[in-house]
Amino acid sequence: MDRYTPSGGQRRFLTTRDRTCRHPGCHVSAGWADLDHVIPHGAGGATDCANLCCLCRRHHRLKTHADGWTHTLSDDGVLTVITPSGVTRVTRPPGWRVLTESPDPPVESAPVIEDPPPF
Ligand SMILES: [Zn+2]
Repeated sequence: MDRYTPSGGQRRFLTTRDRTCRHPGCHVSAGWADLDHVIPHGAGGATDCANLCCLCRRHHRLKTHADGWTHTLSDDGVLTVITPSGVTRVTRPPGWRVLTESPDPPVESAPVIEDPPPF
């Protein structure tokens, strides 16, 4: 049976990845947020970083109890929220790039542009 409570390592990963509540337009710090099972645990959703995101208590309750909202999370942490009126909003995890980006490529020196030869 899959555990319901995320591990400390999962919490650290998710708060670093998400930084704030992931509800579109919300800026509550991830440190104060709940870790929400986007697919509810009771409906078979895994306690897995690909199924968890940070939501503040207000938006966690909205998602859990209000009718008509649809939340989907992709493997790379992109959250798509569809409102009851059909408006779609997408939020990307601001910390994902930091977690996944490779080191910067070496900086090449600018090419030397020589003056054209005189005619
Ligand atoms: Zn929020």
